[in-house]
Amino acid sequence: MKTRRWFVDSSAELSTTDPQITQAAELLRQNEVVAFPTETVYGLGANAENTEAVTKIYEAKGRPSDNPLIVHISDIGQLDRFISHIPETAKKLMKLFWPGALTLVLPCKPGVLSPRVTAGLETVAVRMPDHPVALALISSAGLPIAAPSANLSGKPSPTKAEHVAHDLNGRIAGIVDGGATGIGVESTVLSCAGKQPVLLRPGGVTKEQIESAAGPVLVDKGLTEEDEVPISPGMKYTHYAPSAPLAVADGGARRIQELADEYKSRGKRIGILTTEENAESYQADFIKVCGRRADLETVASALYDALRSFDEAEVDMIISESFPDTGVGLAVMNRLMKAAGGTVIH
Ligand code: AMP
Ligand code: MG
Repeated sequence: MKTRRWFVDSSAELSTTDPQITQAAELLRQNEVVAFPTETVYGLGANAENTEAVTKIYEAKGRPSDNPLIVHISDIGQLDRFISHIPETAKKLMKLFWPGALTLVLPCKPGVLSPRVTAGLETVAVRMPDHPVALALISSAGLPIAAPSANLSGKPSPTKAEHVAHDLNGRIAGIVDGGATGIGVESTVLSCAGKQPVLLRPGGVTKEQIESAAGPVLVDKGLTEEDEVPISPGMKYTHYAPSAPLAVADGGARRIQELADEYKSRGKRIGILTTEENAESYQADFIKVCGRRADLETVASALYDALRSFDEAEVDMIISESFPDTGVGLAVMNRLMKAAGGTVIH
């Protein structure tokens, strides 16, 4: 399949009638899959009401079929069609954080969305992205759009159109290239389907932000305890992983250098993932600077591009610094730990 590519200027005023947008939207209406930028990462979109379309997402990504998708909307009015009830807490959170990087799991009306979107659950995950290209595309298609991240399953999520092309060229109908995304880690997934909100995946909107608006939030045990199966099916898979094994080191720079030297002495090519503050502290075959420790948002924004860069550097082993788990740091550490398959070295 030839993958079409459209270039749009995300900073300019965008209209639903711009030819790039209408052409991409037309493909979505024809039940094809199209990648597009959001404020978190690039999404791989398809008509959420059509099983043939949604099946193409799973095929292109090689995604396990029990991992449900997030439905993206451009207008609150679209919810009526497929959500059976919006709890008060969810209404409050939508007002405060939509459009934005907060996905809400809500009870779903039966028979509207493709059962492949929900993986057979009675709930559905939904969000309104805060990106002019995503909003114009969804609105022009006039459909709820199911969209996981636009990468091959297991690989780091794409934060640039080049990452999407690297993984999916020839496997999807098109890519809307709107430049680099901003936040850089996926949305926060919060279940509002039960009595109290439960955090299922940390992400772009922080737990602290949600709690200051909606009171205490439970955290799914599957996120923190090794023997617990996560509520969110996707959280049980290894994700975001570069080709070489990655270990997260919780000691300081000196300990990381010691480890690097040890691997080096065994003839391995070593990569280190660090921050601007510490970059000068290391000697290794490949050193990747990923944002500033003093501002964890810069780390989140650069993280997936950094993880992908180790593939090109062809290292045998990657050691990453660890980060505080406050604010967006919680999402950064969650992604790093998944990329590392849980390997921490002390
Ligand atoms: P992705 O589409 O790759 O950003 O991942 C979406 C995340 O939301 C995955 O971890 C899914 O398992 C999770 N998710 C989607 N729908 C539901 C749902 N109805 N209940 C719980 N988790 C969900
Ligand atoms: Mg993903």
